[in-house]
Amino acid sequence: MALFDLTGRVALVTGGNGGIGLGMARGLAACGARVIVTGRDAAKNAAAVQELGGSAAAFQADLRAPGAAERLLAEVLALAGGLDILVNNAGTNIRKRPELVTDEDWATVLDTNLTALMRLTRAAYPALKASGRGRVINIGSMLSIFGVPFSPAYGASKGAVVQYTKSLAAAWAADGITANAVLPGWIDTELTRGARRDVPGLHESVLARTPAKRWGDPKDFAGIAAFLASDAAAFVTGAAIPVDGGYSTQG
Ligand code: NDP
Repeated sequence: MALFDLTGRVALVTGGNGGIGLGMARGLAACGARVIVTGRDAAKNAAAVQELGGSAAAFQADLRAPGAAERLLAEVLALAGGLDILVNNAGTNIRKRPELVTDEDWATVLDTNLTALMRLTRAAYPALKASGRGRVINIGSMLSIFGVPFSPAYGASKGAVVQYTKSLAAAWAADGITANAVLPGWIDTELTRGARRDVPGLHESVLARTPAKRWGDPKDFAGIAAFLASDAAAFVTGAAIPVDGGYSTQG
């Protein structure tokens, strides 16, 4: 359908080599976008490119490294000649109670989830503006809204992602750029497999509280990515949209 057609548009998905990022990359590619993924792991990058097929490409980058965001943007522009859709999905967590968090833990999580996202978005602004229909899709979390005892740095970073997204929406609407956050519920990925192992009762409590009575799957993110990237969502900006099987409807 023309409303959701992304033919001719270039999308960069950070952390697009697996999990939720790959689920979003699949949705964008299915609507015709040229998708470029990035991550630290070259083997995962190569597998994702093979799976996405077509004109998909990958660049290896550790987005915490100094200058990484700017280098990545330059590589994308050299390859594809522009950028229309930026999906800031790369993220990490260190599960500790607040009293045990070290400065290093804090820096690792905040640098990855917030500062790298800001640097890449800032670097992408000229290209997104030139697109005339630029899209920023930032990945938050249920912990953008709620608190749990075991993820204070992660919660701080994901709360900030939502507020940063609102700033982008306010600042860049005049440039035709929309910025929205997607808030995943509990999704079965590498990230949460560790949590399920380490946090007693987590699996059961997620099932009990999620009205859909299941964990989410990366496939659940194809549609929201395609929608937010498309012309259909031209007037949707500054929103934080749960994709959570109803988890956030219950207190
Ligand atoms: P994964 O661990 O599967 O994905 C994380 C991705 O981020 C990987 O592709 C990883 O690639 C990339 N990444 C991590 N650190 C860096 C870095 N320094 N530089 C570049 N890339 C990096 O987990 P998910 O798919 O679950 O997570 C994706 C996003 O969704 C994250 O932002 C997470 O916080 C968020 N989220 C996930 C939820 C869930 O239930 N799973 C719930 C709420 C939010 P590589 O390993 O190659 O570096």
